[in-house]
Amino acid sequence: MGPDSIKVLLVEDNLGDARLVHEMLLEVSAYGFQLTHAKTLQEACEYLATGYYDTMLLDLSLPDAHGLDSINHVLNVSSTLPIVVLSGLDDTDMAIEAVQSGAQDYLVKGQGDGNLLTRSLRYAIERKRSEERLTYLAQYDPLTNLPNRMLFHDRLDAALQHAKRHDERVDLMFLDLDHFKDINDRLGHKAGDDLLVNVAQRLQGCIRAEDTVARLGGDEFTIIMQGVSHGSDVATVANKMVSALSKPFTLSGEEIFVTISIGIATYPDCGDHAEALIRNADTALYRAKSDGRSNYKFYSDEMGVAVNDRMTMIDSLRQAVHRGEFQLHYQPLVNTRSGKVFGVEALLRWQHPNCNPVPTAEFIPLLEETGLIHPVGEWVFHESCRQIRLWQQEGLPPLCISINLSVRQFQKHGLASMIANVLKEYQLDPSLLQLEITENILADDSAIVTQTLTQLHGLGVRLVIDDFGTGYSSLSYLKDYPFDTLKFDQAFIHDITTSKNSASIIAALIKLGQSIGMTVMAEGVETQHQFNLLNEMGCDQYQGYLYARPMDATTLSQWMHKHHPRQTQL
Ligand code: C2E
Ligand code: MG
Ligand code: MG
Repeated sequence: MGPDSIKVLLVEDNLGDARLVHEMLLEVSAYGFQLTHAKTLQEACEYLATGYYDTMLLDLSLPDAHGLDSINHVLNVSSTLPIVVLSGLDDTDMAIEAVQSGAQDYLVKGQGDGNLLTRSLRYAIERKRSEERLTYLAQYDPLTNLPNRMLFHDRLDAALQHAKRHDERVDLMFLDLDHFKDINDRLGHKAGDDLLVNVAQRLQGCIRAEDTVARLGGDEFTIIMQGVSHGSDVATVANKMVSALSKPFTLSGEEIFVTISIGIATYPDCGDHAEALIRNADTALYRAKSDGRSNYKFYSDEMGVAVNDRMTMIDSLRQAVHRGEFQLHYQPLVNTRSGKVFGVEALLRWQHPNCNPVPTAEFIPLLEETGLIHPVGEWVFHESCRQIRLWQQEGLPPLCISINLSVRQFQKHGLASMIANVLKEYQLDPSLLQLEITENILADDSAIVTQTLTQLHGLGVRLVIDDFGTGYSSLSYLKDYPFDTLKFDQAFIHDITTSKNSASIIAALIKLGQSIGMTVMAEGVETQHQFNLLNEMGCDQYQGYLYARPMDATTLSQWMHKHHPRQTQL
């Protein structure tokens, strides 16, 4: 008997039938099968416990078991064993029921020959193998071998039922990697996959055998912890995970650092069914992220409301892109000395169809967080350059357009070439384009940011530091970057008439900025008094309600025709 022979366990109490089977198998291939004979189910189960057998031929009328129960019994002992039923009854319904109970085939005694029997046994093994594979795929994530979303739901339901009966707690953690998308974009999907596999392993190292780590998709993982006695134990595990993942990963020869955020919801405090716990763990996760990432948060009721609004708003924003609900308003930028408008700043507006206009401070951070800032930002470029071109054709003087860019837009490849293409498409002189970036950009000295700044400078567009004075940056730092204009934050301007300190800081910054060759600008100028002071200090440019508010394109065009009928100057 070769080592590759198929080990068959025959369970049959009738010796004549057993001999028949033996002969049938011999007749076809003497060495292909290795047959063991058991006369009762009890005896068969003892053999099965050895794990030696490839398949089973099972008679359904045995002294110690009868009918389909035998199949269940066998599967309880060995759930992966392929079973071919041998029955004295030629009964189609019975045959179907046998297969539904978990048998792979049903043969009627006295029908067929050795060939049929052999084929049936081989098929049974193959069929069971592919069934197992399908069952596995239906329940596990093939990349990380962790339970998938489906099995996660089953396990969570089971954990909750158990907890209800035994008066225990269940802790549900939702976890995702901060900035996983950026890593994927930068290093490619293969490296992204490797990272997920490594993360899965480290997470498993942090939990007990009875807990479940599952992967819900993408970089979303979840952990079910059962029967923990104190919240502090859960916090310990969360801390362990944060620190396990803070050690570097080596991907494509590069050391990568990742951080995770975790949201935790506990049965029974945060919900008594799976759906509520999942929703609340997700809410807590969002809160952990918005509180600065790389941390964990337990759900509390007060989080519910705010995040609900947030989720609705994100949904609406996604649709807003497609439905064209965004609009640009334009606010004149003025040359202090000549009093002439030299350009306009494009400011994004969102008109939700059923609401009042949503304040920028509410929706722009969401655009950034969700990555929607990329398509929307690109739209802003097209729309404002198209508008500038239209105004030129209308006979308005050549206005410069100032566009705001968020730091996130700089962290993605292709910004400079996108801008170059738009300029070309609308045949705009690059010197008419000005880009406003907040000083946070200086905190990110990654290669891509520096490279993009250099490329943009090379294109001949002007670069403005927006909201200057709110961050930490110093002027000496600034001179290493190719910025042309310094725009002081409105909070400073607001204070200059009331606070001597603010006034002297602004006066000094104006001098310093100009001494390193920069143009200086004030925004948020609302009163004549503020204007007079800035004028005396020698501020080059300004913008504010005192002169003009942001206006839609048509209003701005009418306003320009009225106030600036002649050629303006840069
Ligand atoms: P920012 O670039 O500093 O824009 C100036 C903000 O001050 C604008 O607010 C403008 O309406 C407001 N403003 C102008 N003059 C006055 C004034 O005299 N007094 C007062 N109190 N406010 C004045 P807005 O339009 O709400 O924009 C807020 C911020 O949103 C902008 O600050 C900018 O950082 C960002 N933003 C606007 N549009 C875009 C965009 O298309 N892309 C990106 N990434 N960010 C944008
Ligand atoms: Mg701005
Ligand atoms: Mg500003």
